[in-house]
Amino acid sequence: MADPSSALAALSRELGPDAVRTDAETLAASSHDSWPLSTKLARLGRHTHQADAVVAVDSPEQIRTALAVAADHDLPVTVRALGSSVTGQPLPVRGGLVLDVSGIPDSFAVNETDMTVRVSAGYNGGQLETELQRQGWTLGHSPQSLHRSSVGGWLATLATGQFSSYYGGIEDLVVGYTVILATGETVRLSASPRAAMGPDLRQLFLGSEGTLGVITSVTLKIFPTAPVQLLQTYTLPSVEAGVAVLRAQAAAGLRPFLLRLYDTAEARHVLQDDSIDTPVLFTGSQGLDTMARAEAAALDDIVAGHGGAPAGPEGVEKWMTRRFDFSGVENLLAQDGGYAETIEVAHTWSGILPLYHALTKALAPLADDVLAHFSHVYTQGTSLYLILRGHAGTDEAAVQRLQTVWETAMRVALEHGAELSHHHGGGLARSPYTRQSLGGAHLLLRRLKHALDPNGLLNPGKLGL
Ligand SMILES: Cc1cc2nc3c(=O)[nH]c(=O)nc-3n(C[C@H](O)[C@H](O)[C@H](O)COP(=O)(O)OP(=O)(O)OC[C@H]3O[C@@H](n4cnc5c(N)ncnc54)[C@H](O)[C@@H]3O)c2cc1C
Repeated sequence: MADPSSALAALSRELGPDAVRTDAETLAASSHDSWPLSTKLARLGRHTHQADAVVAVDSPEQIRTALAVAADHDLPVTVRALGSSVTGQPLPVRGGLVLDVSGIPDSFAVNETDMTVRVSAGYNGGQLETELQRQGWTLGHSPQSLHRSSVGGWLATLATGQFSSYYGGIEDLVVGYTVILATGETVRLSASPRAAMGPDLRQLFLGSEGTLGVITSVTLKIFPTAPVQLLQTYTLPSVEAGVAVLRAQAAAGLRPFLLRLYDTAEARHVLQDDSIDTPVLFTGSQGLDTMARAEAAALDDIVAGHGGAPAGPEGVEKWMTRRFDFSGVENLLAQDGGYAETIEVAHTWSGILPLYHALTKALAPLADDVLAHFSHVYTQGTSLYLILRGHAGTDEAAVQRLQTVWETAMRVALEHGAELSHHHGGGLARSPYTRQSLGGAHLLLRRLKHALDPNGLLNPGKLGL
């Protein structure tokens, strides 16, 4: 690899000296994201994954320039937007440049007739949703990190939101986007409202984690805000009964915008009530008044048929106001020796309960609490989201514990034939397991990588590449 200094000098000349930062504080900050393990390492002053420079770009032209200079000097390029990844996705494991796309100026155009919005990729999701709601629209995409993640980041990580059972994940919500390849070529991918001219190439960059190209602008679907939302909290006799309700409502073709089944441990936590002694289900139905009421009544019947009972809307109403709050995890991570982790996997209806029992059993010795919920529901199965919280005495011990947690969770998920990530993606947390998880399909990923990024510039060391 060439000496980065001549590349950095060229970048300063081309982009201006302020765009190229090499100070220790900036490099240390970009060597961490929101992954709990990375947060612990930051507390220990270990900034292992350091770039040679962080390059702030504010236009597609500047992205092309940075990529060209990086290619000329054989420097890796790791794209970073708002750094809310919880798996180490934007960490520059081979040095080189961190390409900071968060400063690309916001542009925002609503097409009310076609029900789309076109935005720049660095747009903050929460800001976008707030502006849309002012005009009577919603994205329908509401990840817990809505206010701390970018639109381009959503595509690059195959994100999904809390209302996915109605709106789908980002793969269902994206109409098209523009991407700059490592070679500097620009491609616009679009299918509106649908297209069958060859494969749906829009899928290629979804979940690519910055390894295949840099997304610069995105067109998303938008939806009129629903006139009516009906919320309900139910108690269920067991997790098995709750999962059966999720499956039954999917089989019946219902589309509640909210479905969250908590096991008893997490139900106590989410309702802030230690006396809770059953699993709890949150539901929400929306749309025209008649539709929402009919769906809510159907849910009542399905829950009753599985031994459950309504407990009023208050529990879910409170959750709706707190749903972006991550302070429980953040406060623990801020304590010496405190640790917390969130791991999400997915499985079929036949696989999900054995997976839930195996994971909670295997992880129980590794934390003070293991909480679980099922919150993204499909006709064929569901996601499972685990939250671990504990104290290990020192931050050093917490790092080791978190490593053991990941090894254990991934081993059990692989043994059960589960999908290793439902929405947080691979990053560093799962990169060692990518090949095993994708099996023969990893060949396709390697071939794509070679075709689109022949010199392996973009985000090396991720997705098992
Ligand atoms: C509290 C909290 C809650 C979360 N809840 C959810 C949730 O409900 N659902 C969910 O799906 N995720 C969730 N996440 C994970 C995270 O917010 C998402 O992965 C998000 O999509 C990342 O966006 P970002 O802008 O922060 O990207 P970054 O973290 O900066 O980058 C993530 C990856 O995307 C790549 N990337 C970013 N922008 C581009 C671009 N323009 N072009 C090419 N590659 C790019 C980077 O190279 C990197 O590999 C949560 C995270 C936190 C901290």
